[in-house]
Amino acid sequence: MTSIQKNLTSILAELKPTGVKLVAVSKYHPIEALKEAYDVGQRCFGESHVQELEQKHAAMPDDVEWHFIGHLQTNKVKYITPYISLIHAVDTLKLLREIDKQAAKVGRVINCLLQVHVAKETTKFGFLPEELMLLMKNEECKDMHHVRICGLMCMATNTDNCELIRSEFRQVKQLYDEIKAQYFADNNDFSKLSMGMSEDYNIAIEEGSSMVRIGSMIFGERVYT
Ligand SMILES: *Cc1c(COP(=O)(O)O)cnc(C)c1O
Repeated sequence: MTSIQKNLTSILAELKPTGVKLVAVSKYHPIEALKEAYDVGQRCFGESHVQELEQKHAAMPDDVEWHFIGHLQTNKVKYITPYISLIHAVDTLKLLREIDKQAAKVGRVINCLLQVHVAKETTKFGFLPEELMLLMKNEECKDMHHVRICGLMCMATNTDNCELIRSEFRQVKQLYDEIKAQYFADNNDFSKLSMGMSEDYNIAIEEGSSMVRIGSMIFGERVYT
């Protein structure tokens, strides 16, 4: 086994009893790295740049489930709508509208998560909790038949302060439960809570995550070019 395969196998063994789904975040890593992961059974990969995703989608087998995890620009939505499985970080109504429009063109209903902004950094994208509650009430959203709101996603503050990270995850889980109860009580589509990365996935799982996005712990450090 290669080191990627060893890392992946041990994380999967750790996740198994929790039922939490693994998105292997392969951004900035070459196709060979994805193939190694694929060869030990990983089928779900997360990317955050459209052009890079396009190349990898073309090079990898058809049964890969592609997740878009980064900030998605409205003008790039059309490139990924034919095949994307889940868009994690929908952060504006405008983006949701564009996904709906482009998905209609290819006859698909696209699974989306709404990104919640809880981290302390001002650079992070996402809806504030109060904005999210307003969005839920927005009649326009109910008329979008080509997007399926499947849950929430967040990124915690990049810090060593575990208690801060934990409180942010907890806040998002509470918001998730509230939205689920108020708007999706009898709709099983709303069932995903994407939170946790290499450094904080253990805390995220303790706080109720159902999907973790792990990159460097599997593939090693990214080399930004
Ligand atoms: C890059 C990235 C990850 C993975 O980060 P690691 O620290 O390498 O696990 C997870 N989520 C998002 C949104 C990312 O952009």
